[in-house]
Order: sequence, then C-alpha cells, then structure tokens
Amino acid sequence: MTFSRRDFVKTSVLGTLATGVGTHTAKPLSESVSPHQGSSGSYKRPVIICAHNGYNYIDDAYAFLKGGGDTLDAALRVVKGPEDDPNDTSVGLGGLPNEDGVVELDSCCMHGPTRRAGSVGALHNVKNASQVAKAVMTDTGHVMLVGEGAENFAHAMGFPRENLLTDHSRKIWLLWKEYHTPNDWWGPGLDDPNWQPPREAGKSQSELWQNTYRRLEERAADLGIPPELREDAIYKVVYPPTGTIHCSALNEKGEISGCTTTSGLAYKMSGRVGDSPIIGAGCYTDQDVGSAGATGSGEENIKVAGAHTIVENMRHGMTPEEAGMDALKRIARNYNHDMTRLQYVDMIYYVLRKDGAFAGVSLWTGYQATKPHTIVVHDGEKRSVQTKALFEGYSRDFPPPVQVPEAVKKQMMR
Ligand code: ASP
Repeated sequence: MTFSRRDFVKTSVLGTLATGVGTHTAKPLSESVSPHQGSSGSYKRPVIICAHNGYNYIDDAYAFLKGGGDTLDAALRVVKGPEDDPNDTSVGLGGLPNEDGVVELDSCCMHGPTRRAGSVGALHNVKNASQVAKAVMTDTGHVMLVGEGAENFAHAMGFPRENLLTDHSRKIWLLWKEYHTPNDWWGPGLDDPNWQPPREAGKSQSELWQNTYRRLEERAADLGIPPELREDAIYKVVYPPTGTIHCSALNEKGEISGCTTTSGLAYKMSGRVGDSPIIGAGCYTDQDVGSAGATGSGEENIKVAGAHTIVENMRHGMTPEEAGMDALKRIARNYNHDMTRLQYVDMIYYVLRKDGAFAGVSLWTGYQATKPHTIVVHDGEKRSVQTKALFEGYSRDFPPPVQVPEAVKKQMMR
C-alpha cells in the first residue's frame, strides 16, 4: 500500500513541521537480530537491553550485574538515569506534563527470581517512579497503586516530594497552551469507526498556520525560551513527543527482570494512564521464559497486552523476533491493516529470552526519516542496534498536526 513520502528537511524544524505524508510499504518479516552467540553456540550472559535513552547508564548497570547484583536492581540503575535527568522530557524529572501542567508518572517492574511485580500510575511529585513501583512490590501486599495513594505511599517510604516540572518543561507546556491544537486527546480517538485523516491545508489554512508559527516564535521569546531552544520547543508543541524507557536484565545464572518508566504522552488528559505501568502491556517478565517491554503508542499496546503476548509467544516456541513481530501484527490487525490509520501508530518492543537471545522490533522503521528506531544492548560490549520493522517507513505523530503546503514552507524558510 503506497502513501506519499514524509519528506523531512533535516536542518530546520520548519522543514520538519512542513512535511508531507510518508510512503509506507508493508514489509515482510525480517531476519532475526544477530544472535550474539559465543563460540559454543550459546548466547552471551549477562545481557541488558534497553531503550535508546538508557545508553549513558547501561555500563554501570552491566558492571553491577557482572559483579553479582540483582537483575531488577540492574534494570533500575539504567532507568534511574533518564528519571533523574531534567533534560529527558519523557521520563521522571523534567518530563512533559499533562494538559493541566502536572507531571504524571507511570512505571512497573517485575522481578523474575521471586516472581513478583509492582506498579504505580499517575504518580505526582516523585521522580523515581520505577523505584516506587519496586517499593510497592517489596513493601505492600498489592501490585499497583495510583494517584494520591501512590504519592502518599512513596512519601511514607522516604521518597522526597519535589516539583517535577522544570522551568523549561513548564515553558514548553505554556507554549502548548498557547498553540492548543484542536487535534488533542479529547473526543473520539484514532480507533473510532468514523475517524478521518486530516485534510491537506488549503491556502487560507496555510496562512493561518504561518501566523500560528510566527505567534509561537514570538511567544517562545516572550516566555524567555533561549533562541537556540525555540525550534525544539515549537517542535515539541506541534508534535508532542513520546519517550519512555524500558530495560530488561539477565544475569549469568539466568535470572531475569524488567521495568518500564515514563511521564507518558505529553499534554495527555489528566488521569490518563498508558501502557507503561500495566503489568503485561508495558512490561512482563516470566522467570521460566524471558522478559519484554514496550515504548510507543500506549493505548495500542494495552489492547494487545503486548509484553505478555510476547513472553507467551516465546513460551510456545517463537524466537524473540517472531514473538515481537506477532504482537506488532496484532496491532495492525486491530486496525484491519488500514495503513491510513496505522501510519499514526508506532511501537518498539524490547525482547529478551532467558537464554540470552534478544530482539528489538518496531511497527515502523522510525519516527522520522533521520531517526530510525534502535535499542541499546550490553553483553560485554555496549552498542545500539537498529530494530527490525514490520513496516518500512516512518510513522507520523498523533494527533496529526496541520499540514503545511510546499509553497508556504519555502516562504516560511526564507
Ligand atoms: N508508551 C508510553 C505511553 O503511552 C509513551 C511512550 O512510550 O513514549 O504513555
């Protein structure tokens, strides 16, 4: 099935804002990710896999695991990095807030050796949601706490309360309020039977858009967003970013754990909980089989119970890549393979089998032409590995932004 190509102008956010619809061609199942087997044919252990934003933290976690550290604690070491980083706008401190300007965090974890799980949803004012999820697991008889109860529990456990909205993320949120696209999360969603893709902009709409962009630039300046960060801020307003981090860790003994943590969709509805804290969607670990996690379109992942589906697929004999691809196909099936809609959905699955085999699979090649999906692997050697995609091409952001015709784009870039 063919669509027009999303043609990014690499050097300018204006170019990025002004892209057309992409060419998306369904691609057959790809070969397995290189198995990274040792000379004996067995897979290397320990091994840690995680999302791209764990790259700077995985060395420390690998050394910890190699030195006999617990698998869940190793995974938590990785995800703590982005949670603590005020510049990572998709996780923990500095995460972009919900539509009310409140940072709401979601996280879950599973500890293979003890077969336990913990989770928090819509957590405010505590940056290390993954550690609170672990505390729910170790210090309560429950599996999941949400909202005010989760925050009170975290406080009781000694986690400090702090304002997670950094000055920069607050300004981006204010800019978003200014822009306030009608294509927000209110009203029927992408899976509504009557949903229609946005129409290409007509001339008057283009003029309107041109004015909107100018207004955003001026407002960004008024808000004191430094000139070098303005394009990025406008980009994050027009294309609300996704992020999140998942990490699965396996030690030499074959013990395995996983966790996922996020601030969720930027400017989401207050109280919206995505897939990340849902055991079986954002993360699932079974000590007998392996571990899987997800980043991407949370609503779609919940509907296929992605991480659990993948682990069950491996239990029944599929390779990590086959297991992940099958979950992706279920997402496509939920839209009757309608590529007009599926171009707005994306998903990355991180899959680690108990014997050390792993795969990173995604619905699309990447979010942008310049940004293919990757996972980070450490099995003694740290590297980024490109995912195997079910569909070749680049997903589009949802809610769909206004389309800017080529002529106006050129005018705006002069
Ligand atoms: N899955 C996350 C959510 O839906 C977002 C993401 O992974 O970027 O909240």
